Amino acid sequence: MSKFELNLWAYPNEFGSSSIAIKEINNFSEWCNKYDVNKVFLAIRRNIYAYYPSKMLPVDPKLGKINLIGRIVKALHDVGTEVHAMIVVSPWFYKNMLANIPSKDFPKFLYSDEWLPIDRYGFSERDAPFFGRTIDLDIGKERVRRFIANHVKDFLESVPEIDGIHLDFIRYRYWNTQIDMNLSEASELSRNIVKDSFIDISLKINVLRGVKKFTFRYYVKDVRRNGRKIRLEREYLYCFCNECLKNFEESTGIEIPSKLYSIKEKADWILNNFPTEFHRWRTLQVKDQAIKIRNTMNMYNKSLKLSAATFARFPPYGLVGSETPNENDYDSLIPTIAQDWVDWINDGLLDFAAPMLYWMKPVNVFRAWRILMKRIGRRYPLYPGVLTSEKYRYRPSQLKEIYNLLKNSNGAGITLFRYGTWSHERRKRFGEKTIYYYEKVLRDLRAL
Ligand SMILES: [Zn+2]
Repeated sequence: MSKFELNLWAYPNEFGSSSIAIKEINNFSEWCNKYDVNKVFLAIRRNIYAYYPSKMLPVDPKLGKINLIGRIVKALHDVGTEVHAMIVVSPWFYKNMLANIPSKDFPKFLYSDEWLPIDRYGFSERDAPFFGRTIDLDIGKERVRRFIANHVKDFLESVPEIDGIHLDFIRYRYWNTQIDMNLSEASELSRNIVKDSFIDISLKINVLRGVKKFTFRYYVKDVRRNGRKIRLEREYLYCFCNECLKNFEESTGIEIPSKLYSIKEKADWILNNFPTEFHRWRTLQVKDQAIKIRNTMNMYNKSLKLSAATFARFPPYGLVGSETPNENDYDSLIPTIAQDWVDWINDGLLDFAAPMLYWMKPVNVFRAWRILMKRIGRRYPLYPGVLTSEKYRYRPSQLKEIYNLLKNSNGAGITLFRYGTWSHERRKRFGEKTIYYYEKVLRDLRAL
């Protein structure tokens, strides 16, 4: 019987600035050694900045000449821990970061309209970014998918000793909001508002070092009682850019009537008449990204492993809530984030997966895991991800419970999100508040 694995997501920014980071690498590898961590899924960029010497992205200026990822990989290999480089597909940077990045550093194509998605109302990512701040690339576009595959190649050339690639955010992004507003005492709005217009909301929050900005855009779906009651809507569902519409038509044979003019009209027509075809087309775009990455890796080194952080159900924030997981949950992935990752497994694209079962109590993590295993239909290495944070505190007893439930049912292992919250020792060194003393439980569990 193979060993029950303890895996970990980790982010180099949890290691502090470059001068501290070097020392922290040692602390990190010692921690992995002590608790017998098998695999680390390691971030290799933050926003547009790479943590490794890159030919296509600017290197984190704080690092100077240090190949941070190379050093972490070496330190972890010395203690027998595998390292898998995290390739984040969709989200690339915060819109309000642009002002702080020297323009020579910024790869312009990342913010070109040819790379950004357009949602079902015709709102572009540039004007109305995801959740008010994040700029995501349009995974429906061939050039974007090729860029991501080149990013993998760029990384492999820089850190060839890596054990594999771990895909993150390999999906469309999605959310769906309805807001009812009462404008009966806001005549400046009520007297002007009409259906089919849109409202921009700029949210500014005072924080320690300045102002945090969000830009939201909502479609005015309904106006009643002379503008005194309105309903706003934003279903962040994309992409309906001309290029994607053309590709959709070509690959499905569905012809969008030429009398439809606006993007919204075209999107409504597709979603009303051919929703299944549209959602299927989107899942194929995402799958093509996985294929392109696998092919790139194979050209480079066939023994590299490919894995992904995946979903078990949607809505946003993954797996919120206390609802008991059920067999139909997985189907919610298709019309929202278009991530049919069990299909990738069936096609031999993924060597293993880490479903993010965050925010679920142990018994539900276990249920979700069993449902996913049933869907896969054979023994397969799934390493469910559990999360702890200051806001969502997973109790040490819960960690013990889920660990043992999975282990006693021949599970392959578990993944912790993330090093910076599960390691009390690291938090102490950085003066961060204790969540729990997980190390004690981990010591017991790994000694079993
Ligand atoms: Zn598009």
